[in-house]
Amino acid sequence: MRLILLGPPGAGKGTQAARLVERLGIPQLSTGDMLRAAVEARTPVGLQAKEIMDRGSLVPDEVVVAIVAARIEEPDARKGFILDGFPRTVGQAEALDRMLAEKFIQLDAVIEFRVDENILVDRIVRRAKETEERGEPVRRDDNPEVFRTRVEAYRQQTAPLVDYYSRKGQLRSVDGMAPIDEVTEAIRTAIGA
Ligand code: ADP
Repeated sequence: MRLILLGPPGAGKGTQAARLVERLGIPQLSTGDMLRAAVEARTPVGLQAKEIMDRGSLVPDEVVVAIVAARIEEPDARKGFILDGFPRTVGQAEALDRMLAEKFIQLDAVIEFRVDENILVDRIVRRAKETEERGEPVRRDDNPEVFRTRVEAYRQQTAPLVDYYSRKGQLRSVDGMAPIDEVTEAIRTAIGA
């Protein structure tokens, strides 16, 4: 199964991705996680991405496309994968289409998380607080100011993908405002698994 999770920051993609990993036994490929690992390891990509991520903007397409292209070649991704946080621009979606076509692979579905943008900031503030309470490091971009930039980047650069995948007949929308278990159930129904 090859899935894309699409939705604004704080929509619950990570939570649902973890459940899908359990259920389907395929890996979650989160470009955010991969980029944070690169920043942490101070690789050339990490050094380039750090400042961009800290201000909530998008890392250049060619950088993320290269990361994803390498990652989906790895053995654990052969049987399928859940893309979380990629593609985030129409350019990335087109690059992904080319990558998959070369491998004669098809996407099964793009799950769109529909949410009320007004409550996203509350969610992120709560997430940062809970992370802090667990004694874990809070993401540098999980603060209200940077968060607004991330939502704006979503609106301008990523939201057009809803149309893109809808036209291709691959879009399945779920209500991201519903309780976590209900979202899980809606996704299960949407992908028929
Ligand atoms: P979110 O919680 O907003 O979904 P992520 O963990 O997916 O955050 O990503 C954090 C940051 O990493 C983004 O704000 C962006 O700077 C960078 N990033 C992640 N994925 C991509 C991508 N596909 N294209 C460009 N930048 C990306």
